[in-house]
Amino acid sequence: MTTLNLIFLGPPGSGKGTQSKFITETYGIPQISTGDLLRAAAKADTPLGREIKTIMQQGKLIPDQIINRMLEETLREKGGKGFLLDGYPRNYEQAVSLDGLLETLGKQINVVLNLAVSESLLLERLTMRRVCSSCAATYHLKYQQPKKPGTCDSCQSSLYQRDDDKEDTIRKRFEIFNQANEKIVGFYRSKKVTLVDISGDGPIENVTAAIKKALDQRLGRA
Ligand SMILES: [Zn+2]
Repeated sequence: MTTLNLIFLGPPGSGKGTQSKFITETYGIPQISTGDLLRAAAKADTPLGREIKTIMQQGKLIPDQIINRMLEETLREKGGKGFLLDGYPRNYEQAVSLDGLLETLGKQINVVLNLAVSESLLLERLTMRRVCSSCAATYHLKYQQPKKPGTCDSCQSSLYQRDDDKEDTIRKRFEIFNQANEKIVGFYRSKKVTLVDISGDGPIENVTAAIKKALDQRLGRA
């Protein structure tokens, strides 16, 4: 009997969100997102919540120690029958500290999904994204065009391109991601954790099928 203790690696724009949803629904495991945990904690009126809120407002990075504390609590609560970690670890140091945390819980990561997307595809997906300045609806100049160019279908406000979606920013982010990702992958490889490389360049259904095959195999269902 194997539970899936998963880490899902992939750059922003790789389609990780869609695939995560498929995985959690198909295998009945919770998605634990450190971003969600932080946002929820920041809303709560507790000493930790206030501390997190202050750090976020200053635009600083939340220390790993705090993330680990929340993660430990959540894993104790919901991680008993497997889990999919989202947005964590983001670098080598976090991978090491996560490993220590899981050890104290008597758990370990057993599958790392590594979703790779080519830079050209990522650029196409992200640089053509447009957002409504008023209602935040999103469009894509190729795949989800607004009826009237530059105008939101639902509220008629003007569309704009977020700074995050500009080519230079994406290239830079992708480079930073790749450097960190390589080290994370190396860490799990050295621990002999099952590493599944998946190409995210094809149609969504193909990516889903590849993930399902790998996870079924891991569970002895294939
Ligand atoms: Zn709108």
